[in-house]
Amino acid sequence: MKYNSPWIKVLNKRNILKIVHENRPVSRSEISEITGLTPSSVTRITKELIEEGFVQEIGSEGKNSPGRRRILLDIKNNAFLSLVFDVGVNVTTYGLGYFDGTVSLGGSFETPRAPEKFFMKVREIFEKYSLDNKISRVSLSVPGMVNMEENRILMAPNLGWRDVSINEFLQLGVPILADNEANLSVLAEKYHSEDMKEVKEAIFIVVREGVGTGVLIDGKLYRGPTYTAGEAGHMTVDMRSNRLCHCSNKGCWEFYASINWAIEHYEGKLEGKNAIEKFAALKKREDSRKVLEKLAQNIAIGIVNIVNILNPEIVILGGEVQDLGEYFYRIVQEEVKQRALKDATKQLKIRPSIFGTISSNLVGAAVLAVENIIENVR
Ligand SMILES: [Zn+2]
Repeated sequence: MKYNSPWIKVLNKRNILKIVHENRPVSRSEISEITGLTPSSVTRITKELIEEGFVQEIGSEGKNSPGRRRILLDIKNNAFLSLVFDVGVNVTTYGLGYFDGTVSLGGSFETPRAPEKFFMKVREIFEKYSLDNKISRVSLSVPGMVNMEENRILMAPNLGWRDVSINEFLQLGVPILADNEANLSVLAEKYHSEDMKEVKEAIFIVVREGVGTGVLIDGKLYRGPTYTAGEAGHMTVDMRSNRLCHCSNKGCWEFYASINWAIEHYEGKLEGKNAIEKFAALKKREDSRKVLEKLAQNIAIGIVNIVNILNPEIVILGGEVQDLGEYFYRIVQEEVKQRALKDATKQLKIRPSIFGTISSNLVGAAVLAVENIIENVR
């Protein structure tokens, strides 16, 4: 392949757009420095990116020469919108995703049990949003395994979905993307968190009705050859257990580390239509401390196994436990420190997700759409 073949030009263009994304606002000379491309190539490619609506010029005061304006490049936030869905076992939340990987919340609905009904609802919302917006991607966070190559939900056990071909149910004239919720959560953290910028190995644990993990290795999401990587919720933590999991194993970690465990082991009665509502009620009870402390220990046991295998720099907890406060995280940290390999915990950080009202899953779905847009720039 020749050095300045059209394909190399496309790759350079995608690379520059990625650099603007990651370093914004950034000057043309900085881009030239980072990429090693000549200033004239950078000027030519950024001109295209501006004309195509990806990038915009903004002015800024120069750091060393006050008063002198420097032209900087930033992404155009509203240029590309995605419609993002956080498919929950009970409730699905949706919103609008922007080109900077942020989300504005739209609304929510009860997740229909039948996939065809669910996708009808997605179509309805897509059509509603399309009246006022140009939606360029639909992106779904799924509580299960997704074969991204075939756009197929392999299994979403807590929803009872198996082998659901998204493209068969839904065609909207724009690409429809989907990935596992924990994968998207680690993607969202990598994209938005200050302490993740230099991190190459990280784990995100989503604690909801089930437990899922997203695995970042060498700075990239690790999905595995058949898209089942990170299903740590189904690692065996009780070899003698007879309790059968829907994954067909027995004694899975998620029996002990999910919100369902806490609800089952709390001695009082809890109001709520579903596990999420019941757990929210549990968290408000003054006498729930004991069961939550035990939950923290159960979560820590799984983290010990993961940390001993993968030696991550950061373990992030999200889902329904992320707002449980310092005491909860202290128990997790202490238990992990006590049990895991000493060298594996030396620099290990365990913290809650930075995302709150707008879930890491939903933000991750927006980031997935952004990555897909950049990967398809021509
Ligand atoms: Zn299982």
